[in-house]
Amino acid sequence: MKCNRCGSTMAYEQFFGSQEHLGGWRCIFCGEIVDDVILENRE
Ligand SMILES: [Zn+2]
Repeated sequence: MKCNRCGSTMAYEQFFGSQEHLGGWRCIFCGEIVDDVILENRE
């Protein structure tokens, strides 16, 4: 997975909320976050 903003490597992380947890990609360079909801909306 490459960052759309800077092209660096993105690391997969899980974000835990109060009622649900989501997976998402975070860029290790610029901090850009792409989560599953964003990916679905881009389809
Ligand atoms: Zn980036």
